[in-house]
Amino acid sequence: MEQNRNGIQAFARLSNLIYPRRCPICDGLTGSHKILACGECRQRLVYVREPACKKCGKPLEKEETEYCADCGRRKHSYIRGKAVFPYDRLLRASVARFKYRNRREYADFYAEELIKSCGTALLSWEPDALIPIPLHKSRMRKRGFNQAELVARRIGKSLGIPVETGLLFRAKRTSPQKELSDAQRRSNLKNAFQVRKNDVKLRKIVLIDDIYTTGSTIDAAAGVLLEHGAEKVYFLAICIGRGF
Ligand SMILES: [Zn+2]
Ligand SMILES: [Zn+2]
Repeated sequence: MEQNRNGIQAFARLSNLIYPRRCPICDGLTGSHKILACGECRQRLVYVREPACKKCGKPLEKEETEYCADCGRRKHSYIRGKAVFPYDRLLRASVARFKYRNRREYADFYAEELIKSCGTALLSWEPDALIPIPLHKSRMRKRGFNQAELVARRIGKSLGIPVETGLLFRAKRTSPQKELSDAQRRSNLKNAFQVRKNDVKLRKIVLIDDIYTTGSTIDAAAGVLLEHGAEKVYFLAICIGRGF
């Protein structure tokens, strides 16, 4: 047992040497695997606070408004969602490194922050499973991992919620959403998602994604799950655009 523990510690030290943990905010070395982000960097973070949209969770400018302009205009297929950070300069750079520069360890930090900010809401939704928004298999092959799945797995493990990755899949290669208008995003995502089983046994599902902007991705994924038997779909995202 003791020997085993020593072995694990030695392995942790070794992996810290080979893959030292980097801070998700400044990308500098944190000095220890246990330190997920530098103390100074944490103080630079801005969180989503009230007032926030009652539907999608976007930060709002005015206390009096219940919904953001987007949710006021459109019906979403999910029940509601929450996010931790406004999608600002720091988070934009952080998530880009996470996805495109293989900073998989950032997932520990994002999951911890999601649990701190949204854990109570998540548990109150009583989900049967978390489902990370899937990547198309060609993109998965290129990147080597699904960033949303890394985060979902950590949350699921901490809170004891199953993570389902075998059900929902991306049937269509969609072009990156960034450059598209809202209407283009929606048609880009039409039939993008499918389910492997015709009968979804999960009643309540929480989708996990890295960035929420107009909600077109979450709506498309939630729509197909609802069509196949899910009853309620929610979402959690690391970052979210502003609602005004
Ligand atoms: Zn830092
Ligand atoms: Zn909204």
